[in-house]
Amino acid sequence: MSAKVIDGKAFAGKLRAKIASHVARLRDETGVVPGLAVVLVGEDAASQVYVRNKGIQTVAVGMASYEHKLPAEASESQLLALIADLNADRSVHGILVQLPLPAHIDAGAVINAIDPRKDVDGFHVTNVGLLATGQRSMVPCTPLGCLMMLRDHFGSLRGRTAVVVGRSNIVGKPMAQLLLRDDCSVTIVHRHSLGMAEICRRADILVTAVGQPEMFDASYVKPGAVVIDVGINRIERDGRSKLVGDVNFADVANIAGAITPVPGGVGPMTIACLLANTLTAYCRAHDLPEPD
Ligand code: NDP
Repeated sequence: MSAKVIDGKAFAGKLRAKIASHVARLRDETGVVPGLAVVLVGEDAASQVYVRNKGIQTVAVGMASYEHKLPAEASESQLLALIADLNADRSVHGILVQLPLPAHIDAGAVINAIDPRKDVDGFHVTNVGLLATGQRSMVPCTPLGCLMMLRDHFGSLRGRTAVVVGRSNIVGKPMAQLLLRDDCSVTIVHRHSLGMAEICRRADILVTAVGQPEMFDASYVKPGAVVIDVGINRIERDGRSKLVGDVNFADVANIAGAITPVPGGVGPMTIACLLANTLTAYCRAHDLPEPD
């Protein structure tokens, strides 16, 4: 293996420590800590684990965590009423509605009911539009974490060729916007792209966000490229359940310059960036300088 392994877990730990020290200072200066409200509808097991982890990490950096659990049969109007209360609550700086929502609720309507200034997931159409037009916005957490790791690795991303595989609203599209904002030449590929391996082989930066276990082997990678593997896939191997990325790590690590592992790469950065966004929302709400 020749690639440098980008340690997302360690990176996220450092980011959380930085956030915690900002929060302690702000608490001393203003007497108010940033508050994050997380809304969970229903009993989805994976969502319950995510929400619990978010709550633990929020409290660990000194922020206030507010969990709101609604039953699976809660109506859309009940949820919208809760969002309206949280929008008006001055102790809440960030609001996150855990997805997926039950099928009878229109997720788009719920997300777009969140005050865009408190939309720490960055999914509100206003934030999507602000990001796309190069204005100050809330940025989706997973691509923000990828960008931080890339900036740390390269310094400047200017002029690099980047390929993003996947065009979802939560990962692929905002990832491409962020790379474009940092002056990369960006290509997005998806299920209908022709000659995908050839396109990927042009990339200095390859971001895979497709949800296909170990689909990308060395034939997709330019020697020395930096590979950011967003995919999280649970597979059975040797009779055991295991998490793998979209990238065949063992194969690609022989050719890439640097690579994020799964687990321990992009994943830990996502929650750390949620906390970073909550801190940003707090600073904007209080007209304070935003931490870098
Ligand atoms: P979506 O299913 O919403 O999007 C997947 C995208 O990949 C689509 O644009 C799809 O193309 C494309 N795609 C799927 N199969 C192929 C293929 N064979 N060739 C080319 N393109 C393909 O997924 P998400 O964006 O939400 O998530 C992607 C992965 O990232 C998942 O594994 C998810 O678990 C993981 N993830 C990880 C996070 C983290 O914190 N690390 C956070 C969020 C997601 P098309 O549009 O044409 O259908």
